[in-house]
Amino acid sequence: MLEIPPPITLEIDSEKIAWLTFNLPDSKVNLLSSDVMELLNRRLSELESRIATGNPIALVVRSGKLGSFIAGAVLQEIGAISDPEVGRAKSAEGQRIFRRLDRLTIPTIAAINGTCLGGGTELALCCKWRVGSDGPQTKIGLPEVRLGFIPGFGGSVRLPRLIGIRRALNMILTGKAISSTRAHRWGLLDRVFRADSFEVEVRAFAMRVVRREEAQAPRTLAFRDRLLEDTSLGRRTIFNGARKQVLKKLKERYPAPVEAISVVEQTLDLQIDEALAIEAEVAGRMVATDVSKNLIRLFLLRRKAKKVLSPELISQAHNVSKTAVLGAGVMGGGVAELIAAHDVPVILKDIDDDALAVGLQHARELLDKAGEAQVFTAHEAELKFALIHGTLEYEKFDDVDLVVEAAVERMPVKKNILQEAEEVLPEHAVFATNTSSLSVTELAQVAERPTGVVGMHFFNPVHKMPLVEIIRTKLSSDASLATTFKFAIKLGKTPVLVADRPGFLVNRLLAPYLNEAGFLLENGASVTAIDRALTSFGMPMGPCRLLDEVGFDVAEHVAKEMARAFGPRMQPSAVVGVLKAEGRLGKKNGRGFYRYTNGKESGVNREVARILGAPRIDTSSGEIRDRCLLLLVNEAMYALAEEVVASANDVDLAMVLGIGFPPFRGGLLRWADTRGARGILDGLVELTERHGQRFAPAPSLVDLVESGGSFTSSGV
Ligand code: NAD
Repeated sequence: MLEIPPPITLEIDSEKIAWLTFNLPDSKVNLLSSDVMELLNRRLSELESRIATGNPIALVVRSGKLGSFIAGAVLQEIGAISDPEVGRAKSAEGQRIFRRLDRLTIPTIAAINGTCLGGGTELALCCKWRVGSDGPQTKIGLPEVRLGFIPGFGGSVRLPRLIGIRRALNMILTGKAISSTRAHRWGLLDRVFRADSFEVEVRAFAMRVVRREEAQAPRTLAFRDRLLEDTSLGRRTIFNGARKQVLKKLKERYPAPVEAISVVEQTLDLQIDEALAIEAEVAGRMVATDVSKNLIRLFLLRRKAKKVLSPELISQAHNVSKTAVLGAGVMGGGVAELIAAHDVPVILKDIDDDALAVGLQHARELLDKAGEAQVFTAHEAELKFALIHGTLEYEKFDDVDLVVEAAVERMPVKKNILQEAEEVLPEHAVFATNTSSLSVTELAQVAERPTGVVGMHFFNPVHKMPLVEIIRTKLSSDASLATTFKFAIKLGKTPVLVADRPGFLVNRLLAPYLNEAGFLLENGASVTAIDRALTSFGMPMGPCRLLDEVGFDVAEHVAKEMARAFGPRMQPSAVVGVLKAEGRLGKKNGRGFYRYTNGKESGVNREVARILGAPRIDTSSGEIRDRCLLLLVNEAMYALAEEVVASANDVDLAMVLGIGFPPFRGGLLRWADTRGARGILDGLVELTERHGQRFAPAPSLVDLVESGGSFTSSGV
C-alpha cells in the first residue's frame, strides 16, 4: 500500500540545518487546518528537544509545492465558527503554536517561493529571517479583512512592528498581496533570490546566517515617516486618517477593517502576549459575524464556480492562442483590451472606420490606466496593446481559435456576421456571442457548424465586472463549452453557466427591478428617494442611476423583449419611453435622471421632475426597497424553476458579481433568507393587493414556504 506523506516533514541535513517542509498531499496549495496546526505543534516539540542537543543549528521553513508557500487557512473551518469565544480560542491556539516558533533559540528562516497569504504570512512573521523568490507567483499578503475578519495568528500585532504602521495598515486594510520586490523594499523580506536557483540560494543563505555573515535589513522608514510613526500625535493622525478613509469607502457595513485599525493602535506598545490576547478577542468576534460568513461563502462559491465542469469535459477545451472580437463598440473595445491584457493576440474588427478608431483608443486608454496603476509597467502596456490588430476586413482569421461577437444587438446582423465569419474561421474555432438578449440557439441555427456557437456574456465595464455568463445551446459541443469556460477563467473572470432563456439570468432579474423604479416614479416617488433607498441597502448605485448607465434606448428595448418573453409581470412602466421620446438617452448623451459633467454625475436632473411631474408622495425607503428587491427574489424563483442556473448559489454569485448586489449581505437569496421565505411571500402578497399582479408570488416560492425550506442551503 502506498503511504501518504505527512503534510509537514522535518529533516535535518549534514550541515545541521533543519528543514520544515509544508506539503499537503492531494492539494495544489498548502493550507492551515486544525490538523495541520496540530502537526506543526508536534514538529515544534520535536525541534525543541533536538535543539537542546545542539543539532540543528538553524531552521528553514519552506514549501514542497511549486508556486505556493502557504495560501492561508481552511476557510470552511473558519466559516463554521459562530461563537466568538470559540473563535477567540482558535485564534489563541494558533498564536500559541506560532509563538513557539518565534521563541526558538536558533536562527529561523522563512523561505517564500510562491503565494504566501494569511496564516502563511503570520507564520513567516514568527521567523527571524524572511527571504523570497523573485518569481511573479511570490506574493505576500493578509487578505483576512476581505473575508470579514482580521489577521488573528499574530499578523495584526507583528506586521506593524516589523514594517511600520502605515505599510502594515496598507496591507491589512486592502488585503492586497504585494510582490517580493515591494516586500523587500518595505522590510518584510530580508533578501530576494532568483526563483530558478532559490533552493540553492536559501541553503547558502542559511549557512551565512549561521556563520553570522548576514545582517538583518534595517528599518527602512524615511525620516518624515518616522516622525509620524514614532510620535503619539503622528500616530493619532495615521489612525484617524485610516479610520476616516475606511468608513468613507465601506460605511459601517464591514466592521473588520475598523476593528483591525483599533487592534493595531491598541497593541503597538504592549508586551507581545498582552497584544496577542487583544488580537485573539477581536479576531474571534469578527469570524463569528454574519458579514464574515457571507464573505467567506461568496469566496468559496467563486472558487467552486470555476470548477463546475468535470475534468473530463474541461480536458476537451482547445488551446486559445489567437482570438478575434467582432464589433469595436463599448463592449468590443473592452473585451479586446481584456484579452490583450492577458497576453493573447486579438483581431478587433468593425465595419466602420471611426468606430474602430474609438474602440482601439478605448482599449489603449484602459491599458495605459492599468500601467499607471502599476498592474503592469508602461512598457508592458505598450506590448499588450501591440497584440490588438484593428481591421475592417476578415483578414488572418484562418488560425483564430475563438471569436467574441460584440456587434449591434440585432439578430439579422448577428446571423450575417456568423455566416461571414464561418467562411474564414478554422473548423475548431468557437463563435461566442456577447448578446445580452437574443437567443443563442436561434443564432446557432443558421450556422454551418452550430456546435461551435455559444454565448459569452460579459458585463459593462468589461475590465471591472468579474462575471461572465456562459450560454450553452442544445447544439453546442462539449469542446466549445469547455474552451469558452476555460478562456473566461484565463481572463480572470468567474463563469456561471446559464440556460439560453431571454435575458439569461442577470438581465432577466434586473428587468422587473429597474421597471419598478419606473412605477415608483409614476406613483410620485422622487429619483433621490428611490436611489437612496437602494444605495443605503448597499447597492453600488440606485436603479435610476443604473438606468442612466444602461441608456434609455437599450433599457426600453430590453424591457420590451422581456415583456414579450415573460408576459404581464414584466410589462414596462411608461417612464423610460417618455424620457426617450424627449431625446433623453441617459448618461451617454448627458441627459438622464442625473446631469453629467465630463462623464461624471453632477446631481439630479430637475428637468426630469418637470416632465414626470414633481414628486407627489413621500414613499418610505422601506417600501421602495421592498418593491424593488422582492421582485428580484420572485424573479429568481421563476428562473430557478426554469433551470436558468443550477442553484440558489449561482443566483447569489451572479447577482454579486454581475450587478454588485452588496457582498456583505451574501447575495440576493442569502439576504432573502434573513427575511425568511414566509416573510418574502407575505410581502409579495401584500404588494400584489396594493399594486397589482406583477407582484404575484412565483409558484415555486409558495411551494418553498409550504415545504418549510429556505432559499439557500448553509453548506457550500
Ligand atoms: P455598440 O453599439 O457600442 O457597438 C457595436 C459595434 O458593432 C459598432 O462599433 C458597430 O460599428 C459594430 N458593427 C456593426 N455591424 C458590424 C459588423 N457586421 N461587423 C463588425 N462590427 C459591426 O454596442 P455595445 O454596447 O458594444 O454592444 C455590443 C453587443 O454587446 C450587443 O450584442 C450588446 O447587447 C452586448 N452587450 C452590451 C452591454 C452594454 O452594457 N453595452 C453589456 C453586455 C452585452
